[in-house]
Amino acid sequence: MNTISPVLRILDLIIPERCVVCGCLLGECRIGSAPVCGECVGRLRLLDGDRCDCCGVPLISEDTRCLICREREYAYATHRSLYGYDAVMAALIGAYKARGIKPLGVFFANLLWQEWERRGGSSVVVPVPGNPSGCRRRGWDHCGVIAAEMARRYGVPVQDCLRRSRGRRQKDLGYQERQRNLSGKIIAGQKGRARVGEIVGASVMLIDDVYTTGATVQECARVLRKHGACRVDALTIAMDL
Ligand SMILES: [Zn+2]
Ligand SMILES: [Zn+2]
Repeated sequence: MNTISPVLRILDLIIPERCVVCGCLLGECRIGSAPVCGECVGRLRLLDGDRCDCCGVPLISEDTRCLICREREYAYATHRSLYGYDAVMAALIGAYKARGIKPLGVFFANLLWQEWERRGGSSVVVPVPGNPSGCRRRGWDHCGVIAAEMARRYGVPVQDCLRRSRGRRQKDLGYQERQRNLSGKIIAGQKGRARVGEIVGASVMLIDDVYTTGATVQECARVLRKHGACRVDALTIAMDL
């Protein structure tokens, strides 16, 4: 990840690239090929300490499950986020999704791959499908690109087999409203070279960028279980607490 290609070194001399978060000139302080500096990466807030067994929210006084998860049934077994969704992470994800800085997908792929491997590295990775309007605007699906990089760079088995049809914007909706909004909108099937049949009997690791209410992960997990996945766990880059 920290190896900088000779081409990037030359490009940096001709057109110096800046960190997408703080705007500093990257030069030697860049992290691999991603346009982000080491200092900004060091400022990301890793989530550690006691977490809810189910949704992964940091626990304050509860034992193993947060108060919300005691009331809910999920199609997924566990969800974990790597980082808190703070200003640095929001700038990184905003640069990737809103500004369309695609090389950040390699950086996110590396983070998720490390966690996938730490957990035994045997599950099939399925990306949460992006909202069609966002995908059309950018010309690519943000999680699909991350999953493709996990496959290409690290040999992770990936089945990008979920599709999503248009729905209301989710941003300001709560868990129940999001569930209603997503109902029937996520479907599994053949998509490019991905085959939903490959997940029958498999343990699946669903990946997404930000976890907010958990409704999207829940709906995707429900569809994957319906199509034969024996277990679904979810892994996201950041959690909006
Ligand atoms: Zn920076
Ligand atoms: Zn919970």
